[in-house]
Amino acid sequence: MIVIAGGGPNGLLLASELAQAGVRPIVLEQLAERSTEPKANGMVGQVVRLLDHRGLHERLGGGRVPFKAPMFMFGAMPLNLSALEVNPVTILPVPQRRLEQVLEERAVELGAEVRRGHRVVSFTQDDDGVTIAISGPDGDYTERARYLVGADGAHSVVRKQAGIDFPGVTTVDTVARAAHVTMPERVDGRLDVPGFGRIASASFTRTDRGLFVWAELEPGRPLMTTVEWDSAPGDEVPMTIDELRASVHRVLGADVPIGPPASPGPHVLRRLTGGNTRLAEKYRAGRVFLVGDAAHVHSSMGGPGLNLGLQDAANLGWKLAAQVRGWAPEGLLGTYESERRPVAERVVMHTQAQSALTAPGGEVTALRELFGELLTNVDTVRHIAETMAGSDIRYEMRTTHPLAGKFLPDIELSDGSRVAELMYDARPTLLDFTGSAALADLAAGWSDRVDLVAVQSGRPPADVILVRPDGYVAWAGDTVLSGLNEEMAMWFGIPRTAAMAT
Ligand SMILES: Cc1cc2nc3c(=O)[nH]c(=O)nc-3n(C[C@H](O)[C@H](O)[C@H](O)COP(=O)(O)OP(=O)(O)OC[C@H]3O[C@@H](n4cnc5c(N)ncnc54)[C@H](O)[C@@H]3O)c2cc1C
Repeated sequence: MIVIAGGGPNGLLLASELAQAGVRPIVLEQLAERSTEPKANGMVGQVVRLLDHRGLHERLGGGRVPFKAPMFMFGAMPLNLSALEVNPVTILPVPQRRLEQVLEERAVELGAEVRRGHRVVSFTQDDDGVTIAISGPDGDYTERARYLVGADGAHSVVRKQAGIDFPGVTTVDTVARAAHVTMPERVDGRLDVPGFGRIASASFTRTDRGLFVWAELEPGRPLMTTVEWDSAPGDEVPMTIDELRASVHRVLGADVPIGPPASPGPHVLRRLTGGNTRLAEKYRAGRVFLVGDAAHVHSSMGGPGLNLGLQDAANLGWKLAAQVRGWAPEGLLGTYESERRPVAERVVMHTQAQSALTAPGGEVTALRELFGELLTNVDTVRHIAETMAGSDIRYEMRTTHPLAGKFLPDIELSDGSRVAELMYDARPTLLDFTGSAALADLAAGWSDRVDLVAVQSGRPPADVILVRPDGYVAWAGDTVLSGLNEEMAMWFGIPRTAAMAT
C-alpha cells in the first residue's frame, strides 16, 4: 500500500496516477473540507499538456485543444509569443479549488481512497515499510505502508520528520496585497487610470515604487494585486480594501477608485509579507518521497507552481507503481529525483530572476530597459518562453534523437484525433507510425506493460516513439529499432519471455 500525506492538487494527481497504474493509494488530508483560500488562478506551461494527456483538460473546461497564450509576462515585461514558430506557453485558467475538486473526484473514480480530516502526525520507517501515526476524526491510529509520499505542502511534516533539509532564503522586505474588488468601467477592456494611463488585464505594471496588476479571470470578479518593497503592518491589523487602495496609489502615483467586491464569495482579501525560496536537499529518504510544495517553494511570479508540482506527481506515480507491482528496473525510482530536482532548480532560478526584474529603484529600471531591448530578439523570447513553460526540460536519455527526453509533441493523426488522446490511460505507449511486424515482435514481451499503438500521421516526427506515462519520450527512431530493446528494458523492466526463462 502507498500512503499520500496531503490532498492538495499534487497529492490528488499522484493518487490518480498510482490508481491508473494498478495501485490503490490512501490519501490522508488533514482538512475535513476543502480550503476556500484562493490560491492558483490557473496553470501555465507543459502541465497543461499533461492534463490534456489525461483527458482532464476538457474536463476542467479548457476545450478540446490546449490554448497557446499569444502574450505572457516575464518579470512584468511583455513576451510577444505570437512571433514564435512553436509557442510552448499553453495556459489553462482554472481556480485551484475547482482543480482540486476535479482531481479528487477523479482519484476516487479510479479507486483511490481519500480520507478527509486525517492528519499525519509522525512516522517511522524500516527496511520493509513505513508506520504512520495518524490523528483522525475518531481518534489516533496507525497505518502501515510500503511507501509514504509527502504531498503535504510547504510546511511538510513528512519532510521534517524524514530529516530532509529545506535550504534557501526567506525575504521579509516585500508586501503583497490582493483583493477582489469593484473597479471603474473598463475602456476597450483596459483600466483607465487618469494621470497614469490605461492598463490591460493581467499585464503586470512595474514602477519605481512597486508592482500593480489587475485581472478578471472570472467574469465579474476582478482581482487586484500590488507588491511593494516595504514593511507591512503586523498581522493583528486586518487587511482592508482601503489599505489596497492606498497601496495602488503609492505604486501608480494615481488614484484608482476601488470598492468592496459585489460578486458572490469567497473573496480574496489578503496581505502577505515576504516570501520563501527553498528546495529540499533530496526528494527521497528511504521509503519516503516528497512531491510539490513539500519539495520546493518559490515566488508565484509567472505561475510555475503547478507546472512543477503536478509533473512531479506524474513522474513519480508510474515509477512508484512499477516498484510496487514488481516490474520496476533497478534504478527507476532514483530517476524521480535526478529528473525532477533540476527542474525545480530552474524554477527557482527564473522566479528569482523575475523578482529581481521587478524590484524598485533606478538600477532595476535601467536593467529593464536593456532587458526590453533583448526581448525584441525572437530567440531570446523563445528561450524565456521555453524556460517558463518548462519545455526546455530534456531528461537524460541514451538516444540522441531530438525527441528523446522531451515531452511528446502533440501530433495530429490521420483519423482526425490527436496523439494526446492515446495517453488517457497513463500507460507506457509505443507509437508505431509504420505498421512494422518487427516492432510487433519486439513489443510482444512487454504487452502487459506497454501498449503498442499503430497510428498514421501525414508528418510523423519519427517512425517509432516510446512514450512514458508522464508524457516524456524515452526513445524515438526509425524502423531499424536499434537500441529500442535496451530502452524498453531500462524503463519498463525485463520482457515477459526473459522473465519466464529466469
Ligand atoms: C496566492 C497564491 C497564488 C498562487 N498562484 C499560482 C498560479 O497561478 N499558478 C500556479 O501554478 N501555482 C500558483 N500557486 C502555487 C500553488 O498554489 C501551489 O504550488 C500548490 O498549492 C501546491 O500544491 P501541493 O499539493 O503541493 O500543496 P498544498 O496545496 O499546500 O496542499 C497540501 C495539502 O496537504 C494538507 N496537509 C498538510 N499537512 C498535512 C498533514 N500533516 N497530514 C495530512 N494533510 C496535510 C494540507 O491541508 C493541504 O490540503 C499559488 C500559490 C499561492 C499561495
